[in-house]
Amino acid sequence: MILVGDDPASKVYVNNKKKACEYIGIKSFEYLLPAETSETELLELIDRLNSDPEVSGILCQLPLPGHIDETVVINAIAPSKDVDAFHPVNVGKIMTGDYDFVPCTPAGVMELIKESGVDVEGKECVVVGRSNIVGKPMAMLLLHKNGTVTICHSRTANLAEKTKNADVLVAAVGIPNFIKGDMIKPGAVVIDVGINRVAPKKLVGDVEFETAEKVAAAITPVPGGVGPMTIAMLMKNTVKAAVKQNECE
Ligand code: NDP
Repeated sequence: MILVGDDPASKVYVNNKKKACEYIGIKSFEYLLPAETSETELLELIDRLNSDPEVSGILCQLPLPGHIDETVVINAIAPSKDVDAFHPVNVGKIMTGDYDFVPCTPAGVMELIKESGVDVEGKECVVVGRSNIVGKPMAMLLLHKNGTVTICHSRTANLAEKTKNADVLVAAVGIPNFIKGDMIKPGAVVIDVGINRVAPKKLVGDVEFETAEKVAAAITPVPGGVGPMTIAMLMKNTVKAAVKQNECE
């Protein structure tokens, strides 16, 4: 795990991932680098970890400080150790449906849907948000399960009309309480990916829980819903990477 700088939210995420590793018996190495670390220094570290046989998975916590190009860093991680599934090789595999690593947050959402006994096949699935990390891969995973998928974003016209049509609604916007109960179809399954800090000790999602839970058949809470699933999926990818690398030896 590599963390550059001292963003408090990133520190919490890295710490939670470290605890999960300890819990399931994965040995983790933490590289807490100062904010002024240069791109070259970071790339040198990634290069070392790429060829270190003791390391099965590499995670570089985003966002990175402005002077470091995130794309260059993501592209530098060996695809076989890219347990976040951000490298273009892994992104491409997600498109074709032939993937080793599933991006952790969308994978966590799919696991929640599956374990709740919901079948997305033939359902109207609406994803609000089109980021490379959440929205786009989320839409692909729903599509692979035969959902009829609509992706919404900041330029979508008549958003509420789209969300109200959703049997399965995934919110990944980054705006606190953005999706209200009156934007949700009665009986829908609502997955709230958002994590928004609205006070020093208060996190809320992108869905207004109080109004949404009255309409939805099922809804995930924030905190405690998708967040822990993301970490669980990261662990799963890491174990997969370790097994695959050892098979090759
Ligand atoms: P981004 O900021 O990268 O993307 C946000 C998306 O929301 C963009 O596609 C944007 O559209 C869209 N959007 C913004 N405003 C509107 C609007 N008014 N109407 C419709 N769409 C809008 O965020 P991420 O995808 O990285 O994260 C989304 C949320 O999920 C955040 O709260 C983040 O903290 C959380 N998150 C949670 C994780 C977890 O483990 N639970 C993991 C990762 C993220 P456009 O593209 O047009 O700008």
